[in-house]
This record gives sequence, structure tokens and C-alpha cells, in this order.
Amino acid sequence: MQYIPNILFIIALVAGVGYFIKNIRKVIRNIRLGKELDRSDNKKERFKNVAMIALGQSKMVRRPISGILHIVVYVGFLIINIEVLEIIIDGIFGTHRIFAFLGGAYDFLIGSFEILAFLVFVGVVLFWTRRNLIKLKRFWNPEMKGWPKNDGNIILYFEMVLMTLFLVMNASDLQLQELGADHYIKAGAYPISQFIAPLFDGMSETSLMFIERGAWWLHILGILVFLNYLYFSKHLHILLAFPNTYYGDLKPKGELDNLEAVTNEVKLMMDPTADPFAAPADDQAEGEPEKFGASDVTDLNWVQLLNSYTCTECGRCTSECPANQTGKKLSPRKIMMDTRDRLKEVGDNIDKNGSFVDDGKQLLNDYITPEELWACTSCNACVEACPVSISPLSIIIDMRRYLVMEESAAPSDLNNMMSNIENNGAPWPFNQMDRLNWSNE
Ligand code: SF4
Ligand code: SF4
Repeated sequence: MQYIPNILFIIALVAGVGYFIKNIRKVIRNIRLGKELDRSDNKKERFKNVAMIALGQSKMVRRPISGILHIVVYVGFLIINIEVLEIIIDGIFGTHRIFAFLGGAYDFLIGSFEILAFLVFVGVVLFWTRRNLIKLKRFWNPEMKGWPKNDGNIILYFEMVLMTLFLVMNASDLQLQELGADHYIKAGAYPISQFIAPLFDGMSETSLMFIERGAWWLHILGILVFLNYLYFSKHLHILLAFPNTYYGDLKPKGELDNLEAVTNEVKLMMDPTADPFAAPADDQAEGEPEKFGASDVTDLNWVQLLNSYTCTECGRCTSECPANQTGKKLSPRKIMMDTRDRLKEVGDNIDKNGSFVDDGKQLLNDYITPEELWACTSCNACVEACPVSISPLSIIIDMRRYLVMEESAAPSDLNNMMSNIENNGAPWPFNQMDRLNWSNE
């Protein structure tokens, strides 16, 4: 009988961590649906970016209020969870405050955790206020209706509850320590929960133990639920921000990748001795020519798909986007959200059928319209603003390439310009021979 709590704890831990790993494997499988892209270069600069952008949150603080609040919540939440290690050991072995043997260091740790928990709570309340009372514009764009809005709030409530449980657990523990209850050794410093403890004055040992154990269980179960909630939420960025910044694009902004398929075509045209059937080898094997650009998520590369899972839906990109500011339909945040939603849909399709079965849908038109794509000025403001090195522009460009090269569906202005380049070698509707006519005036 006495081992029942330990057994229940181990079952909850294995189930919680196991389900999380299962879902993370799905995320990795989905990201691998993207096309190959080599980002193994320049490791030093990549690690530096992880240290500065993901760990140091250097781009977050460009907007100081939200940046500093985010750092407090992020660092506080991570550090407090070191304490989860103690909870896990206690839960498995039935011990209580196993690290108490650290003495003064333990007091320092628990005291720091409490202060951080309080700061996280305050930070989260301020975040909630900005979203729901002050109603910052970027949290109320059309793409933020429904689940994205609720998701943003749910995680805030989660953190409020977890921090409260942590402090209530400590406050009741402190009372039990004062009463000299069996099992509750005197350990730890409680700079915050000492102010909550008086709420429990006069309670019996049994009632206090009920509160302490209740808060302890709810706290650890809440953390396991939180862990698994990440998969269904934009908060996957807590984990993916690190690989995403590592694999970010290091080229100067504005430098576009050439499409390999187009480069090969041009090389063939320039080389009269080339064998048109010799390259690329992959195409030959599949027996069909490579597609130009992207109409669905599987035409994008794996870094673009990783980008979509990493998007925090913060809306900094959209708030800087000149197209969005001037009332166009384009929102770079929506581009990332749509890409992720479609990728999840494709992943679910594979889970259901064993391999992808055509569902008659694609990213283009069913999620992202040509109107949105052509509203982009390619200014890179969204890329510059993103705190986790995401490039909505690279997806926009690849989808435009598909529209132009596969569908011949560029807007008429662009078609005119392209015809002019083809016929006149310049974007204007004049013959090359007339170029210098202006000097005769
Ligand atoms: S590159 Fe396009 S999507 Fe990004 S900010 Fe500029 S106009 Fe908006
Ligand atoms: S792409 Fe970047 S800036 Fe835009 S919403 Fe996502 S995380 Fe925020």
C-alpha cells in the first residue's frame, strides 16, 4: 500500500514523457517532408546566433517592455523547473526534499525559485493584460481569432496556476515544518510563500498535508500536461527556437537562392554538348521534371517547415509589414501559421493512411491566396523583425515562383514587364535600338 503513490507517479511520468516523445517524433517526421537543404556551413556563426538570439533573446529586447517581460518569464520558468528534478526523485523513491542535504545552497536555490516564481506570475499577468485589456493591435489581427487567441491565453493561465501551486506547496510545507510534522524536515528558504503560509494558520497537520500533497501532485501533473500541450500549441517555440536559429539563413537579406531546377535548365541551354537526360539524376529516377517553386508544403525545404513550427505568433513581422500596414491582405504571420496548419494536415493524412493520400488540397489557394503573395514588396522587414530567425518571405518567393513558372499566373503588370525583358532586354516597352534616343532630344 505504501508504494501506491510511487507507482502512480512512475505511471504518470512514463505516460506523460512517452506521449510527448511520440508527438515530437511526428514533428520531426513532418519537418523531414521538406526538400533537402544544406545548412551545415559556418558552425561558429550558427552557434553564436543560438547564443545571442535564442538564449540571449537579443531580438526580443528591441521592443523593451515585451522583451524584458519575456526574458523574466522564460528564464524564471526554465530555472524553476530545475526543481522538477527534485520532485521526480522524491516521487519515484518516496523521499521528501531529497536535495535538502545541500544545506545553505538548498536554501538559496528554493529562495531563488520562489522569487522567480513570483516574477513569472507578475510577468504573465502583465502579458495577459496587454493581450486582453490593452488589446495590442498585433494580437487582434484576423488570423488571431479562435484557437490562436485562446492558445495564447491558455498558456498564460497554465503558468499562473503552476506558479501558484508551487508557492502553495511551499507555504503548506513551511507550516508543516514549523509544526515538526513527520517526514517534513526543516529545509529551504521561503521569501514569498512565508507570506502565504499565514493563510493556513490553525489548520491541523492532516489538512496541511492534504494541501501540500495536493499542490505537489497538481504541480507535477500540470507540468506533464504543459509538456504535452506544447505539441498542440505555438509554444513549441520554447524548444524549436534553438534549432531554428541555428539553421537560420546566414546570407545577406535580399540575396535570393537560385532554383536548382532553373539553373540546370540554363546550363543545358548554354552548353550545346550537354546531355539533357543526364541531369538531374533524381528527376530521371522519378521520370518527371522537377517542379518550379512551391504550391504545397512538400515543395518547401525542411528549414521553411521548421520555421513554421517555430513561429511564436507574436505578430512582430506583421506589425512591421508595409503591405499589411497599408491595408493589403498579406500578413507574414498568417503565412507561417497557414504553412504549419497545412503541414499538420499532411502529417495527419500520413498517420491515417500510412502514406500521403491526395486530399485535393494544397497550401496555395486552400490556405494562402495569390492576392496575399503578390502584395509582398520583398522588403525583408518581417525577416528583420522576427525574434527567432524565421523568413516568411522565403515561402512567399517560392510560391510566387510556382505561380509564374508553373501556372503562368503572374499579375498582368508583371507579365508585361517580363514580356518586355524577353523582347527588348529591358523592362520598358521600347526597342533596344531606341535606348539612346533620349540623348537626341
Ligand atoms: S517582405 Fe513581404 S511579407 Fe515581409 S514585411 Fe516585406 S512586404 Fe511584408
Ligand atoms: S514569423 Fe517571427 S515575427 Fe512573425 S509571428 Fe512568427 S515568430 Fe513572430
